[in-house]
Amino acid sequence: MKFIGTRGSEGERRFSEVILNPAAPNGGLYVPKKLPKVDERFLIRFLSDNEEKSYKSLAKGVLGLFKIDIDKDLINKALYTYLRNFDDDEVVPVVKVKSDLSVAELWHGPTRAFKDMALQPFGVILSELAKKKDEKYLIMAATSGDTGPATLKTFENKENIKVVCIYPHNGTSEVQKLQMVTTTAKNEKVLGILGDFDDAQSALKNLLKNKDFKKSLSEAGLKLSAANSVNFGRIIFQIIYHFWSYLKLVENGEINLGDKIDLIIPSGNFGNALGAYYAKKMGLFVDKIIIASNKNNVLYEMIKFGRYDLRDKRLIKTISPAMDILKSSNVERMLFDKFGEERTKELMESLERDGYFVLTPDELKEIQKDFDADFATDGECEEIIRRYANKENYLMDPHTATAIKAYENLKEKGKIKNYVVAYSTAEWTKFAPSIYYALTGEDVEREIVENEEVTISDKDAIAYIETHYDVKAPDVIRELFEKEIVNENIINKNAIKEEILKFIKE
Ligand SMILES: *Cc1c(COP(=O)(O)O)cnc(C)c1O
Repeated sequence: MKFIGTRGSEGERRFSEVILNPAAPNGGLYVPKKLPKVDERFLIRFLSDNEEKSYKSLAKGVLGLFKIDIDKDLINKALYTYLRNFDDDEVVPVVKVKSDLSVAELWHGPTRAFKDMALQPFGVILSELAKKKDEKYLIMAATSGDTGPATLKTFENKENIKVVCIYPHNGTSEVQKLQMVTTTAKNEKVLGILGDFDDAQSALKNLLKNKDFKKSLSEAGLKLSAANSVNFGRIIFQIIYHFWSYLKLVENGEINLGDKIDLIIPSGNFGNALGAYYAKKMGLFVDKIIIASNKNNVLYEMIKFGRYDLRDKRLIKTISPAMDILKSSNVERMLFDKFGEERTKELMESLERDGYFVLTPDELKEIQKDFDADFATDGECEEIIRRYANKENYLMDPHTATAIKAYENLKEKGKIKNYVVAYSTAEWTKFAPSIYYALTGEDVEREIVENEEVTISDKDAIAYIETHYDVKAPDVIRELFEKEIVNENIINKNAIKEEILKFIKE
């Protein structure tokens, strides 16, 4: 399997190269030159043969199709994280909620959000590659709350890797923050900045362009890599579970092999959705991939109207913060697949230079063959959370609620014709106060504003939900409230560079 750039290439790259150096020429991203194809025979293998009926076997099977330049032993070791660090034997349980709707839960990993699905195995591969090449890497992650904990977790105490995680102080949930600031690993540094997620991200981007900074890194013998979803090493693991969901529906008797299904995906950077698109291209029986957004609905506008326009947009804070994103990086990979390198470069440069791009009517039609979209307000998500907890006995987090809202909306409009898998991207425990307000209806008029005083703590909200609903927070969440805070460094964004330099010299 060879990789090429979305905005032109300087030769082809192997998997091990694009995972260590994820930035492609001209500001582009790496994509597979050609996707492998599957047929029914491939799928049947994981249904009938009991030995192959596990998530890990399926993952091995799907990765095997890509023929990546990673040793079998290392792939095995990476996939073993699904057995060791996930709390459900199924890895991704697929739960029936309505007669034509199942929810696939992507949050049974150690940090209780979907980022673990890719970052757990990815961390093993990246650090082993670094070790084998005798190179040291610095991973810098700006996070709005889920990527940070998952990155810190997967790289904790890993050789040849250092991690700096930058999060907006007051911009994450208490649980998310505790997951970061209680990190004890010596190879990891957590920086809380006074500012929002955009500040964290742009500070990081500026740093990557800073010559002084780069010089200091190379003097310290460090190379840079990235663990966000621009790294194809993450995308490849986000293809597998779409196959899994499908196979589970067949196994549960919800569909027959060969039937088409729709997937609904709570989306921000479009990495999860891109995995679904690749799975469909590979031959999985998927009809529509439905993108669910919150009020930051740039993806909705692109898929419905063919324009991506940031000119009069400001980021809106919502109760689904992992989807509070305006510049969705993996859209570029889909555009490349549809329209090729030249057009992708043109569209992305227009977005970067002028703040928008517009697709032709034909291009829009092409995208709508595979995608549909919807979005939900915070109020709508709260209503969904409350109603499903009380009437359907299913408790979900606010990100998942955007997907369920899309299901209801599109169903009402008669636009859902197939069995539906909606993805649940976080456990309720990560956003307990929002869920508490949704369930109690208390404070429904509450607007999320910057630096708002949270009136109920995560711990109390979790306790309330546990007493009133049939759920229990896992130990990894409970223990957070007892742990010592050892890695909290609240700084001004101008001080990031200095802090990182101090850390890498330690
Ligand atoms: C990251 C994340 C998303 C968005 O996924 P993308 O791949 O960026 O589209 C949705 N929900 C949760 C809880 C997340 O952590």
